[in-house]
Amino acid sequence: MTSGYDAIVLGLGGMGSAAAAHLAARGVRVLGLERFGPVHHQGSSHGGSRITRQSYFEDPAYVPLLLRAYELYDELERETGRDIATLCGGLMIGRPESRTVAGARLSAEQWDLPHEMLDARELRRRFPTLTPADDEVALHEARAGLLRPENTVAAHLELAARHGAQLRFEEPVTRWEPYRDGVRVHTAQGAYRADRLIVCPGAWAPELLADVGAPITVERKIMYWFRPSGGIGPYRPERHPIYVWEDPDGIQVYGFPAIDGPDGGAKVAFFRDGGVCTPQTIDRTVHDHEVRAIADYLGPRLPTLPGSFIKGVTCMYSTTPDEHFVIARHPRHPEAVTVACGFSGHGFKFVPVVGEILADLALEGVTRHPIGLFDPGRFAAPPG
Ligand SMILES: Cc1cc2nc3c(=O)[nH]c(=O)nc-3n(C[C@H](O)[C@H](O)[C@H](O)COP(=O)(O)OP(=O)(O)OC[C@H]3O[C@@H](n4cnc5c(N)ncnc54)[C@H](O)[C@@H]3O)c2cc1C
Repeated sequence: MTSGYDAIVLGLGGMGSAAAAHLAARGVRVLGLERFGPVHHQGSSHGGSRITRQSYFEDPAYVPLLLRAYELYDELERETGRDIATLCGGLMIGRPESRTVAGARLSAEQWDLPHEMLDARELRRRFPTLTPADDEVALHEARAGLLRPENTVAAHLELAARHGAQLRFEEPVTRWEPYRDGVRVHTAQGAYRADRLIVCPGAWAPELLADVGAPITVERKIMYWFRPSGGIGPYRPERHPIYVWEDPDGIQVYGFPAIDGPDGGAKVAFFRDGGVCTPQTIDRTVHDHEVRAIADYLGPRLPTLPGSFIKGVTCMYSTTPDEHFVIARHPRHPEAVTVACGFSGHGFKFVPVVGEILADLALEGVTRHPIGLFDPGRFAAPPG
């Protein structure tokens, strides 16, 4: 067995790369272990763009974490010089009583976040690509926008290495066990000892963290890129916001401006329609009937968007029953092991603050951030 580390981070995707960077910046000896290469496309943190927003319809409890995530994303850009965030504005669209609109409004009002309410006519006037029904409205938030996930992961890996972390790729962890006051972690190449283990396994959580007691369903999701008919002009990020649009049946579609030039098209996806899969069984082919279904759905809402199909890429969500995250010390090994999983398709905008929280929990046992919503103990409550 090689000599010990203060902390081992299992998984160097979105959350794990951020945890490694924050731990290393605090001067501890960090080893990061990743199944694939750096910034890969096999998990949940790829596809060129992720939405970020603060008027959070999921729950106002996320807002303080978002305020901190925005600060940390700024720092990350400054420290690495990488292009990460584009705050092109964002629209939460639907009927006034829809979860998307009413929930976003609740967060905005509760936290006094700058926002504007637009009726259908104003929406059509300001954003001519959108054709909402007369009874639909939108919350517009100027500070919403998009993040580049690959650049984010690369930036955190770079910072972790700059602060002395050892990062080992193509080295999957096969198992780990408590050892003295810490843990021993095994891979095909060897075994490593550390005082602390931070497990950030994304869609591999059901196999690696079954004993945490958080029921996680892994879902296959598709991102679609279309070349709008008439060109990308009105879809450029200077003119077009990100959007989440909920229909009267509760189906949400979301999309981005055209950020990759005339040939890159604009990305769009359904938020929650995934088939269940595992990392081993996921069907990576995007089928014609799937492309037709989203193009038909978009027709009445963004008529010019589904001009011609460019490409579709799959990705995995790790979804908990209430769609809230799991961030905690491991219930069976609270001293030595910290876990972060179940990000339920909305975790990326939190990546740097999750890194900070994981470093707090691993090194101090507590964090100043409000994470009560993410306690896996909530799933153990007796029924009824
Ligand atoms: C299509 C799609 C769209 C999304 N859109 C948004 C959005 O707009 N806004 C937003 O905020 N969020 C969004 N999300 C969610 C967000 O991207 C995820 O919540 C986030 O990327 C999860 O990060 P993670 O670190 O948990 O997983 P990952 O980034 O997948 O990292 C897990 C890592 O663990 C590694 N690993 C697993 N097992 C082992 C092992 N045994 N040994 C070593 N390494 C291992 C994996 O290889 C992987 O690198 C979206 C997700 C998808 C799929």
